[in-house]
Amino acid sequence: MSLARHVDPDAIIRGLHDLHMKEASQKHVHTKGGTSHITPYSTRYASKQDISKFEIPQDGAPADTVHQILKDELDLDGRPNLNLASFVGTYMETQAEQLIFENISKNLADSDEYPAMMQIHARCVSIIANLWGVQKGEKAVGSATTGSSEAIHLGGLAMKRRWQEKRMKDGKDTSKPNIIMGANAQVALEKFARYFEVEARILPVSESSQFRLDPELVKKNIDENTIGVFVIMGSTYTGHYEPVEEISMILDEFETKTGHDIPIHVDAASGGFVAPFTYAQAGGPKWNFELPRVKSINTSGHKFGLVYAGVGWIIWRDESYLPKHLIFELHYLGGTEESYTLNFSRPGAQIIGQYYNLIHLGFKGYRSIMENCMSNARLLSKSLEATGWYTCVSDIHRKKGEHKLLNIKEVFGREDETSADYNAGLPVVAFRFSDEFKKEFPHLTQDTISNLLRAKQYIIPNYPLPPNEEKTEILRVVVRESMSFDLLDRLITDICQTTQNLIDSNAQDLSILHLNKDTSAEKAHSTTGTSRDAKDAKSSHAKRGRHPLTKGVHRTVC
Ligand SMILES: *Cc1c(COP(=O)(O)O)cnc(C)c1O
Repeated sequence: MSLARHVDPDAIIRGLHDLHMKEASQKHVHTKGGTSHITPYSTRYASKQDISKFEIPQDGAPADTVHQILKDELDLDGRPNLNLASFVGTYMETQAEQLIFENISKNLADSDEYPAMMQIHARCVSIIANLWGVQKGEKAVGSATTGSSEAIHLGGLAMKRRWQEKRMKDGKDTSKPNIIMGANAQVALEKFARYFEVEARILPVSESSQFRLDPELVKKNIDENTIGVFVIMGSTYTGHYEPVEEISMILDEFETKTGHDIPIHVDAASGGFVAPFTYAQAGGPKWNFELPRVKSINTSGHKFGLVYAGVGWIIWRDESYLPKHLIFELHYLGGTEESYTLNFSRPGAQIIGQYYNLIHLGFKGYRSIMENCMSNARLLSKSLEATGWYTCVSDIHRKKGEHKLLNIKEVFGREDETSADYNAGLPVVAFRFSDEFKKEFPHLTQDTISNLLRAKQYIIPNYPLPPNEEKTEILRVVVRESMSFDLLDRLITDICQTTQNLIDSNAQDLSILHLNKDTSAEKAHSTTGTSRDAKDAKSSHAKRGRHPLTKGVHRTVC
């Protein structure tokens, strides 16, 4: 969701007067209703009627007309199934959709009114805690959230409070908490630090750390004020799993030396539903509650949990890691519920969708879906590298333990192989032009590939890697359940054809693709800010926001 600003319709009309659509604009923006129940399109074809955009219209319009108008406008959106940029689920089975629709009016905050839904919530927490190796004798607690972001904020806040409580008991300063994360962290992690006033120690990542949190740097950056370390299971950029066990051992050593016990929160937004099911697991080392130092883990039910957008999960290994004063007791008509969330009201239907998936698919169902995603991601990776034009930065298609680019001889794997034969990671393909390609065609850009594929309706973003490595840009495809083999086949063909066309074309003709400006009134009036350049700061725009949203407040991938 982007921040939206109020739009002054009068200012827009004034602006439109300068445009060639002067006449039309006067009619369009503020005309009265005049729609017909019988033929939703009729008055629109007459171009006398426009949908009210920035002020509520005095008179409403018939349901079928509004439905048709909005449906048509929304056709301009990308197709969710071809949105290969996103980790978030775009497919659910009909029965799951039906259950979600049947329960769409239930509020998760009304626990007393919807006890059956609350029991389903509790069962999901239990199932997920068990998947993550919760230990006997510990009482895991957890909650549904709107997504991993809320879950990460709750996990971070619990760590901050526990650190503060310990420091206060010891009569020590509590004013300078810090938290450790890699520069590859998703924006939610840095948001936690800013919103909850914790210094973010963002450690650079590099090719040698496989673009992940570097254990050596963790060692150098922890101190008595470190409230915890965020370790990511499934980097958003490249899909690599971060070395939770290795970092846990570093923190063990630190504790032995100094007495400071620094907890780990695992951000398993994507990996929380991939690692437990794949044969590759986390590649060997431990990552979940089997490690005593891992106190809390989050995941996005709406990513590889296979639910539509709107559900995440956070679990603490034991209730003792959740400071009591953060828990609210809510008294309802006749009941008491404990709650630790940022939101109050929110839809409960996704929780039902989550439970449907868990019991319908079962362990084997999830395993087969995740193994298919991994196998499709390997096929795509190998096919791209086989062209010689591309090199993958992700390495789930390389044999376990191999991280270097090799000559691809065979794109199809053996019939009986599984993800365990390869490096562990998310089913993500992060790729770039190969060094030879760049040498031969220095004027071609990956942005153009992304734009040309967009013209074929695929959404495949081109991002710079995190700061320090930002000279390298990656195109990234997230292979979700809905990427069928047929679609994959088409995609590989289209990427190859697009690249060939680009090689064959005149570079000048393509420059227009980079003028990718959104000129809509909504965009023009959204928060734009000014850049952080020193020379801009002195200009007349200096009073606007400091970070233009259009350039990304935080340069990050999501
Ligand atoms: C997607 C993602 C998040 C944010 O999760 P939401 O469910 O979108 O709020 C955080 N961390 C990682 C690693 C992610 O991939």
